[in-house]
Amino acid sequence: MSRKVLLAHTGGTIGMRRGPRGYEPQAGYLAELLSRMPELADPSMPEVELVEFEPLLDSADNRPADWLRMAREVAARYDAIDGVVLLHGTDTMAYSASALAFLLEGLGKPVVLTGSQVPLAEVRSDARENLVASLQLAARADLHEVCVYFSGRLLRGCRATKVSASGFDAFDSPNEAPLGHVGIDIALRPGAPRPPQPGPLRVPELADVTVAALRLFPGIDARFVRHVLQEPLRGLVLETYGAGNAPSRDPELLDALAEATARGVVIVNTTQCLRGRVDMRGYATGAALLDAGVVSGADMTPEAALSKLIYLLGSGHAPDQVASLMQRDLRGELTPFD
Ligand code: ASP
Repeated sequence: MSRKVLLAHTGGTIGMRRGPRGYEPQAGYLAELLSRMPELADPSMPEVELVEFEPLLDSADNRPADWLRMAREVAARYDAIDGVVLLHGTDTMAYSASALAFLLEGLGKPVVLTGSQVPLAEVRSDARENLVASLQLAARADLHEVCVYFSGRLLRGCRATKVSASGFDAFDSPNEAPLGHVGIDIALRPGAPRPPQPGPLRVPELADVTVAALRLFPGIDARFVRHVLQEPLRGLVLETYGAGNAPSRDPELLDALAEATARGVVIVNTTQCLRGRVDMRGYATGAALLDAGVVSGADMTPEAALSKLIYLLGSGHAPDQVASLMQRDLRGELTPFD
């Protein structure tokens, strides 16, 4: 019996059409384009059930409520399908992929996010290959997690980050080798895919929580940091230098961070570097953050750290539980220290 894949179109360049102000999503347009793709009827392809989100979004417009909507759509059709492809804009795909990895508790089937840099309707587009390969990947019985597929590489969703605004190789997972490559054959890296989680699939309720991300820069003013840390902020992803270091010459800045963590704001340290990890014991400038109650984000991407904070705080965990879970590997998003 042929495998069945849910193709959920959420928006993004892949299905866009050029309008007077640039590319825009258009309802019904993707279905029309797909009906002209003979590849989809090939016997090597799974049976595809297309669902179009309303409204279709440029992913720059996505909010956490949209992550939840995607998760609920997957959950609603989960028992009837073998896998899912989510067509999504590239701009915030890494956030959605990370968020879905957390929100789809008990996942045991592949959920592949893909999109393209050039719309499917254009002659020289990366959309066709990304779509065809993603559908074949989502039909596999040996993948059980949220992934990003782009330009020949299958990446763990909660490790992915957008690295190119214009190249077809738009995504990478700098701290984790790809789960697989698509060339003449589709080859998964042995041992790389995660085992299925114990089911059934569950999607938690997610309360609205205020979080922020703050990238440090030379000369950052403590008053500005204090302003960001005000109520109702519950969590902050602090993007620091190198191995997790911050300016330590200004006691005001460290005081602002310490006062916030004492109030229960969870502050997570991630590095501005593309590769490597936070180790706050390496330098005095990192140790100062540890003293201020900042927790390590290890080698998580800022996207994974932010969506994990929203997931944990939004699903009702107390600040000290959130602080401890942020440092634990839940879905392959971080490498714990040996
Ligand atoms: N702005 C588009 C989006 O993220 C870009 C893309 O899909 O490549 O929806």
